[in-house]
Amino acid sequence: MEKIGIVGAGLVGSLQAILMAKKGYDVSIFESRPDVRKAKLLAGKSINLALSDRGWRALQAAGIDGDIREIAIPMYQRCMHALDGSLSYQKYGKDEQAIYSVSRGGLNQKLMNLADQYPTISYNFDRKCTDIDLKTNTLHFDNTATNQEEKHSFDKVFATDGAFSAVRFRMQKTTMFDYSQKYLDHGYKELVIPANEDGSHKLDKNCLHIWPRGEFMMIALANMDGSFTCTLFFPMYGEKSFDTINTHEKVETFFQKTFPDALPLMPTLLDDYFENPTSALVMVRCSPWNYEDKVLLLGDAAHATVPFYGQGMNCGFEDCMILQEMLEEANGNWNGLLGAYSKTRVPDGNAIIDLSLMNYIEMRDLTANKEFLLRKKIEAKFSNLYPEKWIPLYSQVTFSHIRYHKVIENGKAQNAIMEQVMQLPNIEANWDSNEVMAKMLELAN
Ligand SMILES: Cc1cc2nc3c(=O)[nH]c(=O)nc-3n(C[C@H](O)[C@H](O)[C@H](O)COP(=O)(O)OP(=O)(O)OC[C@H]3O[C@@H](n4cnc5c(N)ncnc54)[C@H](O)[C@@H]3O)c2cc1C
Repeated sequence: MEKIGIVGAGLVGSLQAILMAKKGYDVSIFESRPDVRKAKLLAGKSINLALSDRGWRALQAAGIDGDIREIAIPMYQRCMHALDGSLSYQKYGKDEQAIYSVSRGGLNQKLMNLADQYPTISYNFDRKCTDIDLKTNTLHFDNTATNQEEKHSFDKVFATDGAFSAVRFRMQKTTMFDYSQKYLDHGYKELVIPANEDGSHKLDKNCLHIWPRGEFMMIALANMDGSFTCTLFFPMYGEKSFDTINTHEKVETFFQKTFPDALPLMPTLLDDYFENPTSALVMVRCSPWNYEDKVLLLGDAAHATVPFYGQGMNCGFEDCMILQEMLEEANGNWNGLLGAYSKTRVPDGNAIIDLSLMNYIEMRDLTANKEFLLRKKIEAKFSNLYPEKWIPLYSQVTFSHIRYHKVIENGKAQNAIMEQVMQLPNIEANWDSNEVMAKMLELAN
């Protein structure tokens, strides 16, 4: 049986370890950080993520979806906060459909605990991968606890060491390896809405809250302890930017003007704003994701994207799931499998980056746009009437397993139809009439 080495014990690495162990492989997983469960490094830092159907399916394949549900809060709709404090709601899908707020640190710890139940998985912390010898499949590490160098060889290496993958860095130097990296002009900062004194949430915990403000936005997702983690997505430089909003007074004035209903809920705003880092958002595309039959990039190491579709982790989990399915189809024969996987999956990695960028514009700008909201209502009504003819784009990404690159093709076709429908006379008043629905049906056929 092949010996498996995994670099990076983040979300995707830990899930991949469990999936491999379930198939009977011996797995050694190496992580540059200390064991976060012992070091309690995550205290006070609570980035949360939206987990949706693609992620759940992979967790189910690993037999651990039930464990993760215990730490997940369903969000059934977006709640948009207008400048005047008024709220409008938009359901994510059909009634029972939801995306789930999970703490990244909490999820990572839980995945590690679940992986620890397999005697064939060994975690090696404080091991920073510095290189890989691709000829012999030997990983090089700095052991940051002992200051020694270490080398370990494996039959297969899965690189799940994130957007700045050390393994990918070596692959970039091989012939015919394509690579591009792009930073968004906007960065982000985590802020906090603490719980009420009795531990309850200050806002509806079953919504993803958005303050769309055109060029930028703030969002908030609930945590299990009653607090919300807010993320301000904001230009790095420019007139209104992290660069210029840089004094207590400016932050207070800016929040008063821009997020007046949120400000009273954020008593620690100034501390959070100045103590928490301003982080950049990077997109990474590369191809192929494999090196021969030996090495495979998974998760952010293969396709780091911006977070606006809430799909980075979900896509990474789906990577593991698809590899698992292909391995099963090949009856456990790895011959040529990593190359075939890369060919299949790279277009989807690229597509989720494109979709994520499109959704940024939708979230920060269009969710406050009347015509956009009308389009969404028409689509939702038609989709309810004819679910087999129309799955809204958001649902295709979030609640289906349609391949991401196919979702983009479907989205273009739907866009062309909606352009025509929005031209119908008096569409604002007649949007849910039989005539409009009949026209949609004619165009969708
Ligand atoms: C603000 C923000 C919000 C997001 N929201 C969502 C969301 O709502 N939904 C969603 O699905 N995704 C979201 N994402 C994306 C998601 O966080 C990532 O896609 C996901 O964490 C990728 O998992 P990964 O395991 O591939 O990489 P990572 O989580 O980056 O893990 C990589 C691991 O490798 C380790 N490592 C790195 N270098 C080395 C090395 N040289 N040697 C050894 N170990 C190493 C790291 O310490 C880390 O533990 C968001 C991202 C951001 C920034």
